Amino acid sequence: MSSKTSLWKRIINPKEWEISTRLTLVYAAVITILLGCACLASVMGMYYIIYHQAETEMTISVGIALDKMNDPQFMSQAEEKPHEATEEVLLPGVVLRVADESGNIIYDTDKHFAAVEVLRDNVVDDGMFWASDKYKLVRLKHFMIYHHEMPMEYKGHHYTLIFSRVITAERPMLAKMQEWLVLGGALGIFLVVLIVYIGIKRAFRPLRDFISTAKSIEVSDLSTRMEVPPSHDEMTELATTFNRMLDRIEEGFKQQQRFVSDASHELRTPVTVIKGYADMLSRWGQSDEATLTEGITAIRTEAGDMQELIEKLLFLARADQNRQIVNKVPLELSELVEDVYKKLKLTATRHNVNLLSNDEGYIMGDKVIMKELVRIFLENGIKYTPEGGTITIDSHAIPRYMCLEIADNGIGIAPEDQEKIFQRFYRVDSSRTKEAGQPGGTGLGLSIAQWIADNHDIGISMESELGKGTKFILMIPCLEEEA
Ligand code: ATP
Ligand code: MG
Repeated sequence: MSSKTSLWKRIINPKEWEISTRLTLVYAAVITILLGCACLASVMGMYYIIYHQAETEMTISVGIALDKMNDPQFMSQAEEKPHEATEEVLLPGVVLRVADESGNIIYDTDKHFAAVEVLRDNVVDDGMFWASDKYKLVRLKHFMIYHHEMPMEYKGHHYTLIFSRVITAERPMLAKMQEWLVLGGALGIFLVVLIVYIGIKRAFRPLRDFISTAKSIEVSDLSTRMEVPPSHDEMTELATTFNRMLDRIEEGFKQQQRFVSDASHELRTPVTVIKGYADMLSRWGQSDEATLTEGITAIRTEAGDMQELIEKLLFLARADQNRQIVNKVPLELSELVEDVYKKLKLTATRHNVNLLSNDEGYIMGDKVIMKELVRIFLENGIKYTPEGGTITIDSHAIPRYMCLEIADNGIGIAPEDQEKIFQRFYRVDSSRTKEAGQPGGTGLGLSIAQWIADNHDIGISMESELGKGTKFILMIPCLEEEA
């Protein structure tokens, strides 16, 4: 009952009609109007031609008669041989009667034609606009007739000339023809509408597939794709675009899942270590001073690492959601580099950190974030360079850019790893890192650096060779000086 009601509601509410139904109706309306106008125009044209032909013949015959009436020679000839005279006056199809003063017909060119009285009795006033208003219109059974009476004076007597011309003898046939025209038109419209409806339905089929595919897509399964129609139209484009969008969503979703599982994995290690030390402390720590110190130190280190990791994760989460605040102001780069360099010098006591050149130059950037960017590369240099190694900073001005180079003579990066190190959580084989005597990182530093660089229009390139060292080159756009 309720499904019937909702179906009925859909039928009576045009807003709920399918696009194919709406298009078909518009098409049907246009075709009906066009076909209707064409039929009307052809019927009216046909009537106009028929009536106009009859009117012309009447007018010519009446005109000749008027001329000849003033010609005495013709009139005397007409008295003697009336048939020959009327042949000269009348065009074929026009009937002439002559009535005397008392109304008696004294001459008739067609005795079988309807009597004058009958014609007079059947005169109609409501002729259509294509009928002439010069002549009277007579409707007699199937006939439409033009009727015209004209006075004439001859030898002191008054006569009446009565002209008649059949306009059309086929009124029923014409009416039938009109009926056929309407029926044929209706059938034509029906066929056209049917073909159009089927065509539109076929054209919209991919759209219905699209809807059912879209309905079947779940977050748990993003692998479904829309079938791309073989044609090369908007539907093909729609399907391809939709599939590409799904590719991107699926990839983003997988990335997100990887990120969550990697982050959980990274957090598990320090938590396990902390828990282990806490257990140890609760058992022996209270009595043994050395165990207590070792435990507290280890817990502090692990908690510190964990805090660092969480800070990085939070930064990337803010960055992904476009919530990371970037406060760009004009910055003098040499001051910023100097600052980071001095702080590093204090902590990196086992490496040589050299500042080769530090040109002055203004850039636009967020001070805190830009420092973080430089620090990420310097810390990597320290981390992946064995003790006693050298890290050099070289910042020089070139046209429109500040070129900041951070190089080390550390373990280097293999060519196959070079393009991957900017991916989140990516770390080159940890055994080599350990060989270098450095603790492994989280693998997030360079992905943060990449985000900061993208946000500041900074280009990052690198040169690295295994066992020899690595150089990162940052091209930082200079602040345009106002003219
Ligand atoms: P994090 O910086 O988050 O503490 P991380 O240093 O491991 O951890 P990234 O800075 O993103 O992570 O670096 C990714 C990987 O690239 C590193 O694990 C390391 O293998 C390699 N790498 C980065 N910089 C250097 C470098 N200067 N020399 C050699 N290898 C490097
Ligand atoms: Mg790092």
